[in-house]
Amino acid sequence: MSAAIGLGVDATPLDAEATTCYICLQEGTAAKPLLTPCACKERPVHRECLARWQLHSSGKSEERQCRFCYQDLPDWQPTLLGSENEDEDAPKPLMAAVVFNNTVYKLPILPGPEGKAAFKRKVHELFGLNNRMFEVAFEVKLDQADKVSLHGLNAYEAATRCAALSARRASSAVRQENQQQQ
Ligand SMILES: [Zn+2]
Ligand SMILES: [Zn+2]
Repeated sequence: MSAAIGLGVDATPLDAEATTCYICLQEGTAAKPLLTPCACKERPVHRECLARWQLHSSGKSEERQCRFCYQDLPDWQPTLLGSENEDEDAPKPLMAAVVFNNTVYKLPILPGPEGKAAFKRKVHELFGLNNRMFEVAFEVKLDQADKVSLHGLNAYEAATRCAALSARRASSAVRQENQQQQ
């Protein structure tokens, strides 16, 4: 029997400085530096990559806590949605794409608990669920080609915020076009 030639478990020493983001595996840059926002100092991450993961996990514990060390994470919203908080500009009601049985439906969504209750009623009405449990996935657009899908009704708040953001971006794009034409 030949001796196994050691590709030892220590081929990647644990104390080696990690220089890539544990989510996208890219290196940090001046514009997108790597951060260690929790106790996982060996797992650097881009702020945007982590925020996207948090958004994707919205309504679950991983939205607010590191899934490895359980420390609290910074809020994802300023990173993905910007700090501005004026929803007045947004045309109302906002529409969300709701995926049900592999079909996409556009439904109006409004923020807050009343909005969520109204949304639930609408879904029950539309799909004839009679208050049975249902699975819902929201598809939100962060950018033209940047979609994140959120699962479960607990993600409702996050979905309304993202919808408000894309509506704001769309309306400011129209404003800019109008200004250029003048
Ligand atoms: Zn990354
Ligand atoms: Zn951690």
